[in-house]
Amino acid sequence: MKKLFCGLTILSVGFAAADPGVVLRFDDAHPVEQWRQLAAVFDAAGAKMSLALPARHLGGEEQRAFLREAAAKGHEIMDHAYDHALYSCRCRDAAEFAALSNLPFVVETDAPNLRLCFRYRFDMDHPRNRRFRGRVKGGRLIVEKNEAKKFQRPNKVYIPSLGRVFGFMSSQDGEMKLYSFWYPTPAAPPDSPEEDMVYCDQRSFSPGDDVLRFQAGRSRDAFARIGLPEPKVWIQPGGWEPWLTAETFRRVYALEFGYTGADCLVGCEKEGMAADLSLAPFMFRPLPYLDSKAMTPEKIRSSIQDSVEHNRPICFLSHMRPPPGGTWGQWLAETAELLKWLGENNIPVKTFSEVTARMSGITADEVKAAFADAEPWRKERVGVDETCPAPWTPPTWDDSTKTFGCWNRTYRFGGGIMPDEILSGGETLFARPPRLEMDGKAVRVAAPSLSKRSDEAVETVATGLADGYEVKSHVRMEFDGFTWVDIDLVPSPEAKPFASLSLDIAFAKNASALFNSMCKQYMDFKPGYAGAFMPFSLDLFGYESRTMFVGNDDVGFAWHCESLEDWRVEKGEDSLRLVPGDDANHLLLTFVNRPVEKGRPLRYSFGFQALPVKPMIRDWRYRRINGGKPGDFMGYFDWETLHNAPGAEYATADVKERVAKARAKYGRLQWYLAGFTTSPYAKPWIRHGGEWSKTPPAAGTVGSPGNRRSAFCWLCVGSPGYADYYTWTLRDTIRKLGVDGLYFDNQDAQFCSASVHGCGFRDWKGGARATYNLRATREFNKRLYRMARREIPEGPIMRHMSMKSIMAADAFADTLVDGECYCGTISRDESYYNIFSPDMFRAMYRASPWGMPRYLIPQIERSIKLYAKEKGRYSTPEKIRAEIAKHRPAARHFLGYMLVHDTLVWPGGGVDATKFRAAEDKFRLHPGDERFVLYTNGGNPFGYDGGRFMVSVRARGGHALVIAMNDTGEAQTLPRPDAAKWSALGLPAEYGLRNVETGRAPESIPPRDYAVFETVAKSAGKAK
Ligand SMILES: [Zn+2]
Ligand SMILES: [Zn+2]
Repeated sequence: MKKLFCGLTILSVGFAAADPGVVLRFDDAHPVEQWRQLAAVFDAAGAKMSLALPARHLGGEEQRAFLREAAAKGHEIMDHAYDHALYSCRCRDAAEFAALSNLPFVVETDAPNLRLCFRYRFDMDHPRNRRFRGRVKGGRLIVEKNEAKKFQRPNKVYIPSLGRVFGFMSSQDGEMKLYSFWYPTPAAPPDSPEEDMVYCDQRSFSPGDDVLRFQAGRSRDAFARIGLPEPKVWIQPGGWEPWLTAETFRRVYALEFGYTGADCLVGCEKEGMAADLSLAPFMFRPLPYLDSKAMTPEKIRSSIQDSVEHNRPICFLSHMRPPPGGTWGQWLAETAELLKWLGENNIPVKTFSEVTARMSGITADEVKAAFADAEPWRKERVGVDETCPAPWTPPTWDDSTKTFGCWNRTYRFGGGIMPDEILSGGETLFARPPRLEMDGKAVRVAAPSLSKRSDEAVETVATGLADGYEVKSHVRMEFDGFTWVDIDLVPSPEAKPFASLSLDIAFAKNASALFNSMCKQYMDFKPGYAGAFMPFSLDLFGYESRTMFVGNDDVGFAWHCESLEDWRVEKGEDSLRLVPGDDANHLLLTFVNRPVEKGRPLRYSFGFQALPVKPMIRDWRYRRINGGKPGDFMGYFDWETLHNAPGAEYATADVKERVAKARAKYGRLQWYLAGFTTSPYAKPWIRHGGEWSKTPPAAGTVGSPGNRRSAFCWLCVGSPGYADYYTWTLRDTIRKLGVDGLYFDNQDAQFCSASVHGCGFRDWKGGARATYNLRATREFNKRLYRMARREIPEGPIMRHMSMKSIMAADAFADTLVDGECYCGTISRDESYYNIFSPDMFRAMYRASPWGMPRYLIPQIERSIKLYAKEKGRYSTPEKIRAEIAKHRPAARHFLGYMLVHDTLVWPGGGVDATKFRAAEDKFRLHPGDERFVLYTNGGNPFGYDGGRFMVSVRARGGHALVIAMNDTGEAQTLPRPDAAKWSALGLPAEYGLRNVETGRAPESIPPRDYAVFETVAKSAGKAK
């Protein structure tokens, strides 16, 4: 295996593959004589200048002739928008004005100036927008002084009572006059009272594709009329205009018109953060030039030197204006000096397009080809249907008892907004019906009635009344027990304000011994987030987790939510609390503890699922990684040339031969995929990345930059079209390449606030928050599962995740892979001694409460390689042998935890399970079903005192494997088993025990070590 999982390193990058080079850019139209003098200086130095021109601003034939001549000499003439504006343009004459005024995207006209104003899209909930208090008086914006200081150009404000966006400018005396959005013509709006206004970030505006096409066409026509080459570069006009994002620019200018460079804004959440490598050509930002007093020739030279050292290009922007106090002659002489210095130091002066064409590693032809793709996935939504995939069976609904049924579980409804009673495998989960309370009074609804039914889901509705609110509960229950509840509170005229709304889910004590908050700490694990049930609070408004597991060693209950839009909770940590009690353990949800104003409809939505989620796959303990037997599998990682580009076109050239070879050696291969990230170089991302990107992190944030093959961007599986693309393309690849099994990396739910996906919400204080996209992730995984089960019915599906056992989304696989999250933490102690504890391990990593077997990957060796202070500890065969010997105790401690908990181990990394596996294979030959009796189980013959010495038993056909894990600091001896419990497992009274590794009879087990014994005929165990 060459590559293991995505190393989640995030770096800020600007450029992928680029050479050093200096671009000197001069913006806007200037007197032809100045241009001539500048061109003479460049020509003398043999250097190229890059001019950014609004075509409408060009004067007479003399200017045009100069530009033609300059272009012929290789200087670059760039598109600076036809009229130095994107959202408006002035026409050449009245006839043209009359003709163009009818364009569908023209929303305002200004006849005296022949100006057309274009439609813009405004995203009011853009995460960078800010609310503030303000009012309008005499055409001016009145705000508090401190607020005004935060405003930045280009200033745009949305005033709700006027229902419009205005531009505004601050004058010297602090007055802020309101203007039109498009151009600084006074708007003169009526006075308005103080209200919450929206200060608009420029990224919250975007033009329609029709406007962009019109603008690109107009510039290109003008260039052609002048006799200039087609522009390849677009330069954002500044001043009054909100900027275009690189993502939007690329969609039309690059893909439809072949532009290869631009100076746009990155459309990400935080400006200056990492950029998608493939967007780099469209956000080549300049530094100021000599026009600014702060930018001396020395400073310019040192910035250039720095860029050469870092092997990256650099651009300077000038408006051909000497700084205050300077003269044109001085400015020109300093430019000549700079060009001379560049020549002497062999630093090339390049045009803007020469530099940007090399930045992304994608050629203009490839970009055009991406656009030409037919995108067949738009026609068929693969995996969207109402079927129930195996091993599940279609859900049932008994209307007489109001009971929902699915594999191993029943949910019985009474008069609550969720089931009154849940049984999993016959075990009752609740101590009493969950109680929804408004202002201390129980809210009840009538028994639910069936509203929809298919092989996929049963849906019910129920209504009730509470303090003048109509209560509607809509419940959707799917074949795997995943249930989503929407509670609507619809006010009647009598509805009163209320001050509290909460839900108390009371669990039976024995069904709630453990909890798992599923707070994922990838790099530095801290204990305390999972284990024995205890007082705990989870801030659902935060970004660690919006899910909670409560259960025991056999069954469980998982609760989830996505958005908290109508939750009014004073302190976030009160939103979800675990409270132990004498007769029940409580999961308390606080929806409201601040008074809710009267008369607003409210919605509270959440999901839950009783567990285990499905029967475990057959012979799961004996399906092994790298085992080489039928049913075993081998992860197959390097089949594609780009990170997670599922298309067959990205497969390596020799994929078929290599797969045949690997298959002959290992059996079935599981092909590596990672649907939550994709390559910035994959064609669909080039076209749709801006839309598919997860926010935050920033649109286009790249992991593993600098390597075309492993670079990746995060995306939101809830974005429109992405899941259609992915499921269709993967199916196509399975058919074309003969894929036999699938391995999905980290495809768990993410937090996203991109409103184009329907993600993101405002909390009750008005703050922007991200949605936890669990249902979108679930739908995506479900579609992939349905598709895979049809295409490769026997093909194994494995899902890699870390610490988040969220069956709602993860159950669409046969096995899970976990444990990578400790990679950073392990470097501290180089062991799991301070990480694993019995209750924590049981709450997180056993198979039975979830219904999913999982492999844990040991991280000892990998962590040392990546994070240890001393490098190169695994560099030579001798060093490797020494390290393995040194870490044998830590590796045995790790393995012991796996075996005593019936958790599967991913062998390697210093962990050797060979002898155990051999004993297990022998054990398997005994006839009959196998039983695993965990150390906590009352039927375990060896008992358990609650400490760190644990003995579990596997029984089969009158034989046993006894697994003892000693995680104490002292040596321990195996106790004598309880005879009655031993025989209840079908085990003989007369037997011997033999250590499967040493072949010896039981001896004391060293601290932090394990021992596995097999039963043998009585005499054999005693012999050496
Ligand atoms: Zn300009
Ligand atoms: Zn999203």
